[in-house]
Amino acid sequence: MSFLYRSTRNENETATASQAILKGLAENGGLFVPDEIPELDVPFEELAEMDYREVAFEVMSRMFTDFTEEELRYCIESAYDSKFDTEKIAPVKYHHGAYILELFHGKTIAFKDMALSILPYLLTTAAKKNNVDKEIVILTATSGDTGKAALAGFSDVPGTRIAVFYPKNGVSPIQEKQMVTEKGKNTFVAGITGNFDDAQTGVKKMFSDKKLAELLDKKGFQFSSANSINIGRLVPQMVYYVYSYTRLIAAGQIKAGDPINVVVPTGNFGNILAAYYASLMGLPVSKFICASNDNKVLYDFFATGTYDKNRDFILTSSPSMDILISSNLERLIYRIAGNDPEKNAELMKSLNETGKYEITDQMKKNLYSFYGNFATQDEVAATIKTLYDEDGYIIDTHTAVAVSVYDKYKAESGDATPTIIASTASPYKFTRSVVTAIDPKLDSMGDFELVDELYKLSAVKVPAAIDEIRTAPVLHDTVCEKEDMEKVVKKFLGI
Ligand SMILES: *Cc1c(COP(=O)(O)O)cnc(C)c1O
Repeated sequence: MSFLYRSTRNENETATASQAILKGLAENGGLFVPDEIPELDVPFEELAEMDYREVAFEVMSRMFTDFTEEELRYCIESAYDSKFDTEKIAPVKYHHGAYILELFHGKTIAFKDMALSILPYLLTTAAKKNNVDKEIVILTATSGDTGKAALAGFSDVPGTRIAVFYPKNGVSPIQEKQMVTEKGKNTFVAGITGNFDDAQTGVKKMFSDKKLAELLDKKGFQFSSANSINIGRLVPQMVYYVYSYTRLIAAGQIKAGDPINVVVPTGNFGNILAAYYASLMGLPVSKFICASNDNKVLYDFFATGTYDKNRDFILTSSPSMDILISSNLERLIYRIAGNDPEKNAELMKSLNETGKYEITDQMKKNLYSFYGNFATQDEVAATIKTLYDEDGYIIDTHTAVAVSVYDKYKAESGDATPTIIASTASPYKFTRSVVTAIDPKLDSMGDFELVDELYKLSAVKVPAAIDEIRTAPVLHDTVCEKEDMEKVVKKFLGI
């Protein structure tokens, strides 16, 4: 069976998995979605005995049907190796009455590594399978973490180049330093004078510009995307939900088939959508708890059925979630509309033209397994302090948004279902916010002094990703207006 992906905006635009990975985005702004999600027909007890790589193979082989077993195993083995600082790849820890799924043990200490360490292998394999002879240019907008994870993944990968755009004043100092010190010879990094949505809109515009595509083609290039709009990122993210569930079975915490809830700190809606896709594959998730920061568009959407991005963009202590247009929500909209590309296209047109749309009552009913809430910056700081006081465990600001929302959900619902909370970044990436949440007096310290303070507080080894950038020289200093993104990309490519 060669399982087809289809555009959320045009049912006639189909692609195999490898083609969808190569293209990143469908025509006219649509996203590729699987026609159906195959059942994961391996008993959970069996999965519980497998390591991360084996579970990854079982999940991904169901979704990437035109990859051979050999190709897929090669991608998986190359990605999930000693780049991760633990054999477990994604360890599960019990704190604050919940299972914290630590997704930050990869090279750049954010959960983006879970998918971006495999995407370059999937993409270059897909290029080979489809006889692509062009150099692939990865265009990426980042709210902070995708940028470095994509740079690390694609750095010096033959046949690829990568350009990353980040909001100049919208990322943490450590996030910025990680990106601008990137050494790969095929890399380009620019700050833009705008926010993440501006960066994402600029990138999407370049993707759908036919004239630009022709020029690129003539010069031997082809765009692809490392953002979570690429199914090559989404599918690898399904793996760790299945993996963590089966770890709980292996540890005797739950029995195979028992329901769980998942809490996901959400920005672009990729991570939580992966959990939803995993449930369509058979993972028994009863509630998807969508946690937002002060940019609470999604909370309002789940509460009212209206998505409205017409509001102020707020810079928060969880910058990777400072987003008003959650791209991957479109995939859920498509699904709750009954896989209806026309309805979806109509709503997305409205979003584009008026900044908002309203779903039908039936669609709203189809969202019954989702719950949304948000946490303010004060609540985030208080949550970090609470967990530290409880047992010395230190979480980052994004994870704290999730834990705070988990507490709200539990208080409101009384639901005691075992819960997995996605922990999306190492606290070392957001040192200032984390350390000052525990001890506000330390705010006068420099960024790297705070790293040492965090080590004293947590006794968790300083990750290599942080040590590397302490003294690394800045190699990228481009800052451009959001209108000039195309110009700087052309300059980078020499066209
Ligand atoms: C990207 C990111 C998120 C948001 O994930 P989405 O898939 O965009 O919803 C949350 N936390 C951290 C640390 C991130 O880097």
